[in-house]
Amino acid sequence: MSNFFNRNRAGGPPRSKRSPTPTGTLGRKDSTGSEPPSPGAPSGPKPLYLSRPFADSALVKGNFKTIVMQPKYVDVNEWVAVNMFDFYTNLNEFYGVLTECCTQQSCPTMSAGPTLNYTWVQDRKKVPLSAPTYIDSVMSTVQNLLDDENVFPTKSSQSFDKDTFPATVKQVYTQLLRVFAHLYHAHYPQILHLRSEPHFNSMFAHFLSFGTQYHLFEERDIRGEPNAPVGVGLLWERWKSTGILEGL
Ligand SMILES: [Zn+2]
Repeated sequence: MSNFFNRNRAGGPPRSKRSPTPTGTLGRKDSTGSEPPSPGAPSGPKPLYLSRPFADSALVKGNFKTIVMQPKYVDVNEWVAVNMFDFYTNLNEFYGVLTECCTQQSCPTMSAGPTLNYTWVQDRKKVPLSAPTYIDSVMSTVQNLLDDENVFPTKSSQSFDKDTFPATVKQVYTQLLRVFAHLYHAHYPQILHLRSEPHFNSMFAHFLSFGTQYHLFEERDIRGEPNAPVGVGLLWERWKSTGILEGL
């Protein structure tokens, strides 16, 4: 038996320095260890990331409400900006570890489900890109936005553009969501191999909690279309039903 099944989850408090209260006792217990069959599930083998124990493996137990709430006296734009910067940085670092297995050959399309491939839009044209090229484009676009003082000001003398900032953040969020969706869909075996699934799940659950709290994505972004569902849509459903994303 692989020791994935027996491995202790790293315990301890959430990483956020801002978390006002521990989240240790929150979240519904799912103690039986059994799982009812889901007749509505799509046919075909169930992806690993939806299988126990991987689906619920997380560094932070309970839900993420306390760490996504805007601290008192902090401007909401500032709070969103800081968090987007952290999500980008963490996901980019994580992707850096997976670049060897996300290649033009392994991933000729930006897949996120059995029938879903994202296309990059450039000059209003849809461009089919391989996953590594797509992800590089996302990362460099986001990096440029984060570096742009007019979009993400870091000096107190400059303020956020209230008219454009929300739309920009949503765009960034949607693209990062696509990167998560591809990594879950196409690279979960490698994530397991690196034993990084608790970290990756925590990062994604935190990302989803944050996006829900600040309305950064539409339901169709995470569910996809009926004929082209996003693989992680089912993970999102599952985490909502097990309490990881409750209260949002
Ligand atoms: Zn890939």
